[in-house]
Amino acid sequence: MDSNVNKILQNIVNTATLAADEAKAAVHSAGKAVAGKYDEVKMNIELARLSDEQEDVFSDIGRMLFLMHTGAVKDTVMSDEGEKSPQQVIDALLVSAEQVQQEMDVITDKLTVCRNEKVCPCCGRICGEHDAFCAVCGTRLSEEEPEEEKAPAAEPEIQPAAADAPAAEPEAEAELPAE
Ligand SMILES: [Zn+2]
Repeated sequence: MDSNVNKILQNIVNTATLAADEAKAAVHSAGKAVAGKYDEVKMNIELARLSDEQEDVFSDIGRMLFLMHTGAVKDTVMSDEGEKSPQQVIDALLVSAEQVQQEMDVITDKLTVCRNEKVCPCCGRICGEHDAFCAVCGTRLSEEEPEEEKAPAAEPEIQPAAADAPAAEPEAEAELPAE
């Protein structure tokens, strides 16, 4: 295989994590906005749209790799933001793909909440509302120790010190604690 393409592929591996981090930061705020705004139907439509969008990005990445392999792409490529190296083009595409993925994940999470389902934090499987453990990997799903209403803080001791009452003077030793 063309050594240029090999280099690109290696760089892709190196870039992937970085791309994921950038995407996470970018989507974090966007995701919150998505939250209450969409109902379930709209979320499903949006998911389908994002999926198509991601397919396009994948396709662009593949096309770029192919063009590099055939030598059709030279040192620089014209893009919307001016000239870029093929590597930069692919890096940008990877970031896009990651961002779309993150958006999809956010929506999937919201849908899950809508349906009262739980997602295993470990393997991602969708589990039932009342499942305590993931059926696939066994991860505990509920952090349910439902924090019971805390007992009202110790009653403030308002009782005025009964000054004049013959207060129970600590009478010698009371009973010894039963053993
Ligand atoms: Zn699991």
